[in-house]
This record gives sequence, C-alpha cells and structure tokens, in this order.
Amino acid sequence: MKRMKTVKNTRKLYLFALFAAFAVQTLLATACTPARTPRAEEAALTPVPLAAGERLRVAATTTIVGDVVAQVGRDAVELTVLLRPGVEPHTYQPRPSDLAAVADAHVLFVNGLGLETFLEEMLENVGGDRPVVSVSAGIQPRQHPRQAGQSDPHVWFDVRNVMTWVESIEAALSALDPAHADTYAVNAADYRQELETLDRWIVEQVATVPEENRRLVTNHPAFGYFADRYGFQQVGTVYPVSPSAEPSAQDIAQLEEAILRQGVPAVFAENTVNPVLARQVAQDTGVALVPLYTGSLGEPGSGVESYIALMEYDVRAIVEALGGGR
Ligand SMILES: [Zn+2]
Repeated sequence: MKRMKTVKNTRKLYLFALFAAFAVQTLLATACTPARTPRAEEAALTPVPLAAGERLRVAATTTIVGDVVAQVGRDAVELTVLLRPGVEPHTYQPRPSDLAAVADAHVLFVNGLGLETFLEEMLENVGGDRPVVSVSAGIQPRQHPRQAGQSDPHVWFDVRNVMTWVESIEAALSALDPAHADTYAVNAADYRQELETLDRWIVEQVATVPEENRRLVTNHPAFGYFADRYGFQQVGTVYPVSPSAEPSAQDIAQLEEAILRQGVPAVFAENTVNPVLARQVAQDTGVALVPLYTGSLGEPGSGVESYIALMEYDVRAIVEALGGGR
C-alpha cells in the first residue's frame, strides 16, 4: 500500500523503476540467471531536446551514487550531487539549493530502496515531472534485518550491485541523450572493468583473514550485502535499526556479551555518525574501535573521494583489524 502512495505522488517518475523491478522479478521467477537491468528503461525515458553545446543536466542524491554517475557521464553531463561528503543519508534534510538543482535537472539519480527518506517530500516540493531513476532497480534486494517488509538499501557494499548501477545509469543517460550513447557505453565499459578488478581484490584480501575472525560488529546494519558477498558473519550492530534510532541499554548489553563470547576483535564505527556509542562498546569490551566509510564518501583531501577508494579503505581497515593482510 505504501508503494501505491509513492506511485500516486510521483507518478511516472517511479513507473519505470517499478516496471524494472517487476521485470527483474519475472526474470528471476522464470530463470535462475543473475538480475540484469531490463532494457525497458530506455523505452520509458525519451530524448531531451538539447541546444547546441548544452549538456544533459544530471542530479544525484548521495555522494556514492553521484560518483558512479560521474564515472559513466564524465564530461558529457553537467552533474550536481545533493548530499555533501560526510553527511548521513538516512536522516538528510534537503536544502533550498537542492530543490533548485533538482528543479533544473533533466534527470535525478537516486539509490532507492528507501535510503532517501526525504525523496518523496522533496519531489512534491520541487514539482515538475523530470524522470527519477533508481539505480538499484535491477537488484534483488536483501530484506532489512530488523524492519519487516523493508529492503536493505546498502547495496553498494557488494561491488557486483554497483556493476548493475552502471548498467542502469548507462541505459538512462543513453535514452535521454542518444547523441552521446557511444561515449556513455565506453565510459561504462571502462568503469565496469575497474569494478571487476576491485571485486577480485576484495575476495583476495578477505581470504587472508583467518576464517574464525570473519565476524563483523558495525555501527548500523549497513554491511549485509558485504557479509553475503565476501563471506562474513554479522555478530551485531551498535544501532540495531538505523542511526536515527537509539539502541536500548539491553541492546548494548547483548551486543557486548556477544563480542566477548565470540572473541570479536574490533568494533567498526562510521564516518557519518558520531562514534560515541561505538566507542563505549569498544571500551567496555576492550576491543579496537576502527572507523569505516559507509553512507558517504570522505571530505576532499581524505583520500576517500570515490566509491572505489571507499571500498579499498574499508576492506583494508577490516582485513587489518581482523588479523588478515601481510
Ligand atoms: Zn545506512
């Protein structure tokens, strides 16, 4: 029912995402092949009339989605990313400049799967009917571990899902701006190769961690796709649902008990959330507190200014904290 409301409010913007999700479900039901972005997207998006020298104006919500859009669009598009580095996406409140950027854009790319809780209201405020492309539309989501009926939006922690994002982004940009379709195809192919290298590297790195140490305690449940793909067990999280919902004293006590019982060597904090609770858990249990980048890229100068850099940083930190590496 909630889904219906979304469709009513933002109508054709979501139709294509819904259609894509439906097409993928049908595909999965009929054949056990991995989800591929349905080409139907192209039919739902029509070319934008651009004046000579005018570039496609593209907006993206999170810094991570923004970076992947930038890799596919490069110089052929004019990109505005709404969230700034280090800002927590779950609790984001759009600024007036965000509304102006979306109003001016030919297309808005979003993570989808409920990550951008601000999206529906923002689109109502902006008005108009630019397409909204959920880059995750071709992905079969995990269920949220603690919220029944909700999807886990943190798909980017499985690199293969970001390869699906690349297909969605390429298809959408090519449909809106067919004059640059070849450019988008080349950019997407180049970037997909980098992602394949990244995925292989992560598998190799994780293989150096002793199997009994492949246990994660993270700040909030953002690492489900990572655990599934790269072979970790999730022991627990400091915030059981999301960083906007405080854990109870009992939640914390149970987590600390699990850390001690299972001999977990580290608690991982994250760049978008104050680590005061994670630090308390680490101190109470006498294990290391290790920061990670989760819902946002790092600030300029951090060295974590791209999706690939984020994954490299996190994997190095996790592998080292859990006794792997050389
Ligand atoms: Zn999150």
